[in-house]
Amino acid sequence: MGSSTKKNRNSDNASILQEQNERAAKTLLHLGGIREAAAAFKFCPACASPKLYSVRDRMWVCPDCGFEYFHNVATAAGIIIEVNGSIVVLKRAKEPRKGTYALPGGFVESGERAEDAALRECREEIGWAPEKIEFLASYPNIYRYHNIPYATCDLYFSAKVPSFNNAELDIDPEETSEVLLLSADAIPWELIAFESAQRALRKYLLSRSIGLPPRSMEWEVLE
Ligand SMILES: [Zn+2]
Repeated sequence: MGSSTKKNRNSDNASILQEQNERAAKTLLHLGGIREAAAAFKFCPACASPKLYSVRDRMWVCPDCGFEYFHNVATAAGIIIEVNGSIVVLKRAKEPRKGTYALPGGFVESGERAEDAALRECREEIGWAPEKIEFLASYPNIYRYHNIPYATCDLYFSAKVPSFNNAELDIDPEETSEVLLLSADAIPWELIAFESAQRALRKYLLSRSIGLPPRSMEWEVLE
């Protein structure tokens, strides 16, 4: 009986894993996929063999010298900053998605915590960051840079600040062309640069509208 229970548990785990893999693959496809990354490397960087091949579009193997390389998921972090009911949104001054709107944030660096990365990126972009942030949610995303798609896991934090002086900001013109404070009904959803940011903003605004702290929404359906 013990072994059959264990066997059932193993097959349960296998089907859960399979379901998770299928869901992740579907999400990746929906976001644009990372297949093009597989075509970006034509030769082995260690021995120059043209036989380099990719596995699942994210790992490269060289059959000649044994070189292996993973194009792993990168971590990014962003902040939803609420000021008197409005949200701080940055107009992007650079590619990808130049001219669209984004939340303050960027990539996590080696040895850095996601929350510190979110605050650092915010300071770099606008010369200011909130003192206290809280974790909100994480979502997968595809970030295209010079036509190479990078699969990311974007972590979002939120902050509520009583005031915000746009005139005192030190905006990095290479990153941001404009800082806007938008009320929930003025957010141009189709111009929000990344789907993960749209999802984080929707979660934040929806929980606010029903009077719940954003993190308590564990019932959110992931697609
Ligand atoms: Zn090689």
